[in-house]
Amino acid sequence: MSQHQSYVTDLPQLLIVGAGMAGLTLAAALADQPLAIRIIDPRPAPAPEQWPATFDPRVSALTQASENILRRLGAWEPMVQQRVSPFQHMAVWDGDGTGRIAFDAAEAGADHLGHIVENRVTTWALLQQVQQADNVVFEPLGLERILEAEGGRWQVILSDGTAFIPDLLVGADGGRSRVREQLGFRCRTWAYGQSAIVTTVTTERPHGDTARQVFLDTGPLAFLPLREASDQRNSHCCSIVWTLDQAQVPGIMALDDTEFRAQLGQAFEHCLGAVTHCDRRFVFPLIQNHAVDYIQPGVALIGDAAHSIHPLAGQGINLGLLDAAVLAEEIQRALPLALSPGDDLVLRRYQRRRKPHNLLLMSAMEGFKRLFGMDLPPLRVARNLGMSTLNRHPLIKNRIMVRAMGLDLGWQGDLPALAQPELLADF
Ligand SMILES: Cc1cc2nc3c(=O)[nH]c(=O)nc-3n(C[C@H](O)[C@H](O)[C@H](O)COP(=O)(O)OP(=O)(O)OC[C@H]3O[C@@H](n4cnc5c(N)ncnc54)[C@H](O)[C@@H]3O)c2cc1C
Repeated sequence: MSQHQSYVTDLPQLLIVGAGMAGLTLAAALADQPLAIRIIDPRPAPAPEQWPATFDPRVSALTQASENILRRLGAWEPMVQQRVSPFQHMAVWDGDGTGRIAFDAAEAGADHLGHIVENRVTTWALLQQVQQADNVVFEPLGLERILEAEGGRWQVILSDGTAFIPDLLVGADGGRSRVREQLGFRCRTWAYGQSAIVTTVTTERPHGDTARQVFLDTGPLAFLPLREASDQRNSHCCSIVWTLDQAQVPGIMALDDTEFRAQLGQAFEHCLGAVTHCDRRFVFPLIQNHAVDYIQPGVALIGDAAHSIHPLAGQGINLGLLDAAVLAEEIQRALPLALSPGDDLVLRRYQRRRKPHNLLLMSAMEGFKRLFGMDLPPLRVARNLGMSTLNRHPLIKNRIMVRAMGLDLGWQGDLPALAQPELLADF
């Protein structure tokens, strides 16, 4: 990949706006296809030499399906060499009662349930793959404007003033997508009036490779296990996501370190002993947003540009990677038929395969959030009973685990080949 390659080409042209995890996955999945791909982002992933010594405050719980995609694109090994944190166990409980459910990878015949990975590790590894592709050009530019061009196509003006008319324009530019906004895609938005405080902490006791989430009156508090190196055992580091009502956030953010650690430890019921260290804290406002349509003639939205989801599910980028893999699959299916990557048929198939499943997951998460957000005693009893009953049913638990690993076909939609477990994909 070069930074300023000529665009005189007979190949169909694709412009991907946004080189986050979703945009880069699409570019990597189409590497070496007969397409000329341009991917732009004014804030490209920094190289490991530029990373601060602390963990990236933004981490994602990646499912097995996401791992499969990243592995097939050649990004997984470089990620492991940086660091990824596998977890074998998961515990979820109601802070207000006695309900508790625990999952164990061994019960599902797997050696892990998923991985916690810093976003910068994933983005950087994908960028490396994209850089090796001859048909992809990355440019550190932003999107300025989109204008109507002849033949129902779009003319895209970039931040350096250059204009470009792609056969397919992909908005992979995140939750505040400019592509979505400029082209007037309608959205359904759930505003929670909540924000998440995110930071990395060290605890008195090791996390034992367990992802933990407690549902408090204010919202979920997650302690996600981190390792300083992929093969490290007995790590004491966790990434925390503490959901709070917006009104509570300034007070908690203003606490000094000692008081913050004390309050966090208390909210987490000192499950891992005292919180002994805490990095800088960041606040992310929470919003659930879903584009009514992901496509318009010659345009597709993927990842957070199409849908942002409450982090309690830990599913945001897992859905985004599936969007990218499905869109790539549909484009590849169209190329031998001499269809343009922006052809209506390609885009409609992409939307049909992804939208219902994203919507299903988002609605389930919304229901879950509301169920735990209500302080009605009968509901509390019911959900406590529900969790504890589920905990005693291995078959149902197994189904839930397969879903959490991103491998349930009914839940995730028809999995693209890139995401399928090896045996299924090779069949
Ligand atoms: C607190 C928190 C915890 C989370 N935890 C999880 C989790 O455990 N698991 C999970 O799956 N998901 C999680 N998520 C969600 C996950 O972080 C997002 O789904 C994911 O980052 C979205 O990736 P993306 O590539 O679609 O968008 P982004 O990561 O937002 O990337 C968009 C890219 O577009 C670029 N861009 C923006 N505007 C322009 C422009 N005009 N021109 C060019 N480029 C542009 C940006 O620079 C950026 O690089 C969490 C989110 C939050 C807030």
